[in-house]
Amino acid sequence: MWNSPKVGILGGGQLGRMLVESANRLNIQANVLDVDNSPAKQISAHDGHVTGSFKEPDAVRKLAETCDVITAEIEHVDTYALEEVASKVRVEPSWQAIRTIQNKFNQKEHLRKYGIPMAEHRELVNNTPEELAQIGEQLGYPMMLKSKTMAYDGRGNFRVNSKEDIPEALEALKDRPLYSEKWAYFKMELAVMVIKTKNDVLSYPTVETVQEDSICKLVYAPARNVPDSINQQAQALARKAVSAFEGKGAFGVEMFLLEDNSLMLCELASRIHNSGHWTIEGCALSQFDSHIRAILDLPIPPKSLELLQPSIMLNIIGGATPDSHLKATEAALSIPNAGIHLYSKGAAKPGRKMGHVTVTAATMHEAETMIQPLVDVVDTMRA
Ligand code: ATP
Ligand code: MG
Ligand code: MG
Repeated sequence: MWNSPKVGILGGGQLGRMLVESANRLNIQANVLDVDNSPAKQISAHDGHVTGSFKEPDAVRKLAETCDVITAEIEHVDTYALEEVASKVRVEPSWQAIRTIQNKFNQKEHLRKYGIPMAEHRELVNNTPEELAQIGEQLGYPMMLKSKTMAYDGRGNFRVNSKEDIPEALEALKDRPLYSEKWAYFKMELAVMVIKTKNDVLSYPTVETVQEDSICKLVYAPARNVPDSINQQAQALARKAVSAFEGKGAFGVEMFLLEDNSLMLCELASRIHNSGHWTIEGCALSQFDSHIRAILDLPIPPKSLELLQPSIMLNIIGGATPDSHLKATEAALSIPNAGIHLYSKGAAKPGRKMGHVTVTAATMHEAETMIQPLVDVVDTMRA
């Protein structure tokens, strides 16, 4: 039957949990590789899960034995183990795509060949102050020093404002492979979720993302005060970038909208993405539904990716106290049309994503008015 293939998921965090929610509704078994009782496993009672880490080759091999197609909720996985098991199970997206994308420098070098506009960047080979100073002269200040690997939520980025910051920057990112990027003077950050299927590259509408301390805080769908021409251009750029990689599934594409209304790629992720959570309430098919369908070659009517109603997503991030996320979401209980998602990660740590809330309304203005009290609560709870 169409829903008989078993899906293996590397990683059982919140993204894996929301994938399992989608799989569950179609009676598709999803086997999760992560520690016991991880958020995704908590909502999935069967004995097909694997205990271990997506960085352990043995655990990846074990997962491969239990399923027909493997996917990942995170790009920081062991792609050599994936390469090995790819002869026995389908890996979606491809291990090559994940391997290239997980190294942000390699990702950008690859995308450059496809003519994707990006901030100018330079690789560091020795990580010395002299080398970075020379790059600073080429790129100008400020510039963004970035770790090539293991980066998320801005952990891996350091803004270098002047030559004087160089020792501190290198200390903050020491022992990591580095590259540096020219500063992008953007007026807005945009994102597009792309779904790559057997024959097609589809996209959701362009959204506006707002980061605070380099962590995504709010997502507005559609992007506010952005003409449809830019919405379409951003979707086209995102589809073009994702087309440069092999494999099926959801890809999250982050972009900068510059002062002159041109677009530049910030980075892309080979997976479902925080900037696409709004699709759960905002579209007929969520990014998680579409990802499951794409990797199993099930139909995805393009109309199901259209925006149903303006939507705003607010991340609930661990604050000053272990229960601040619960206090924040309590306020959301009283907001009409608020979809509340808690990830069941236990006690909050500052900066940790604990949940999110999406408010939908007939107009963006109405959605903004409805979510504002919750934004106020979240702002008072910051660590
Ligand atoms: P994520 O959690 O999205 O994976 P990350 O740690 O990989 O984040 P980036 O997406 O590269 O980091 O950067 C995080 C944020 O830092 C961006 O959303 C943007 O606000 C800012 N930023 C990144 N690169 C630049 C740049 N070249 N110029 C200006 N700001 C930048
Ligand atoms: Mg990233
Ligand atoms: Mg990013």
